Amino acid sequence: MDNQQAERTHLLIIGSGPAGYTAAIYAARANLKPMLYQGIQPGGQLTITTEVENYPGFPEGIQGPELMIHFEKQAQRMGADLRYGLATKVDFSTQPYKVWIDEEKLIEADAVIIATGASAKWLNIESEQRLNGYGVSACAVCDGFFFRGKEVAIVGAGDTAAEEALYLSKLCSTVHMLIRREEMRASKVMQERVKNTANIKIYWNTETDEILGDKTVEAVRIKNRKSGEMHEIAVKGFFVAIGHNPNSEVFKPFLNMDEAGYILTQPGTAKTNVEGVFAAGDVQDKIYRQAVTAAGSGCMAALDAERYLSEKGL
Ligand SMILES: Cc1cc2nc3c(=O)[nH]c(=O)nc-3n(C[C@H](O)[C@H](O)[C@H](O)COP(=O)(O)OP(=O)(O)OC[C@H]3O[C@@H](n4cnc5c(N)ncnc54)[C@H](O)[C@@H]3O)c2cc1C
Repeated sequence: MDNQQAERTHLLIIGSGPAGYTAAIYAARANLKPMLYQGIQPGGQLTITTEVENYPGFPEGIQGPELMIHFEKQAQRMGADLRYGLATKVDFSTQPYKVWIDEEKLIEADAVIIATGASAKWLNIESEQRLNGYGVSACAVCDGFFFRGKEVAIVGAGDTAAEEALYLSKLCSTVHMLIRREEMRASKVMQERVKNTANIKIYWNTETDEILGDKTVEAVRIKNRKSGEMHEIAVKGFFVAIGHNPNSEVFKPFLNMDEAGYILTQPGTAKTNVEGVFAAGDVQDKIYRQAVTAAGSGCMAALDAERYLSEKGL
């Protein structure tokens, strides 16, 4: 990792989801010649989903991977320098900031935008992977609409699971909520709201044995952890709401984060605690986690970076 290999850029963008590509589009149009590293999932989370119906501008809906190809092409057409590679180490202690790619290549940048997203936690059972996008989802706001008037199951016991169950209860006929323990982790207020919602049925001490269905979800087989009894519930949708991991580990030594690892930004901006380092998208947003909000914050990050660079005369 010697400095002879260092390559210099004004603006380095890390991540190629809606936030990273939007930042690249704005930065390229501002003539900042951004360099963007895509990471191991070029296009980000939407590349593992099917229909996206809530991204404005596509009245008929669009497949997630296709949408992200549009983002990529637009960033490329504006002149962004898109590259394969993973940021594996950073040093934000002095200017220019240093970012190592794939543990060997060194990039030096005047400003950095972090748009590395977050990864949903899964149960890690075979059927969950096989039916992902075909009835299995980790996002009620994204996919609940596809199950209007139908029965669905949701796994999770925290505040997010409670919120998602309540969201689904307004669309679906019955929401079967599967909870591993005898109690929920969600706040008392959220617990009460869930328990008082007539079409949410709670199953305590319950884990998912298997999601059933050939091409799409047809049922879930559950197991009572106390009695060992198995039981099948016919559902069309299966939602996993057991949390997310923000992809922020590599930045931990330098950036302020909350206890879950979400990067903290100054309200109303993309600024982190390090001047010239910005964060956008799901890596700094544990509340909304949508493609359109990620894209919006990518725009904010590019505009903040542009102002920073011109104020510093860089
Ligand atoms: C199955 C599924 C379905 C969804 N459906 C919808 C929907 O219908 N509508 C909607 O609005 N939202 C939906 N979402 C949510 C949406 O995908 C996210 O909110 C959005 O993708 C977040 O964008 P992002 O740019 O912040 O990060 P991500 O899309 O997570 O992209 C992160 C990027 O960072 C890269 N990366 C990570 N670490 C590194 C590193 N160290 N170095 C370099 N690169 C790195 C990854 O390769 C990836 O390119 C869905 C999510 C999932 C999982």
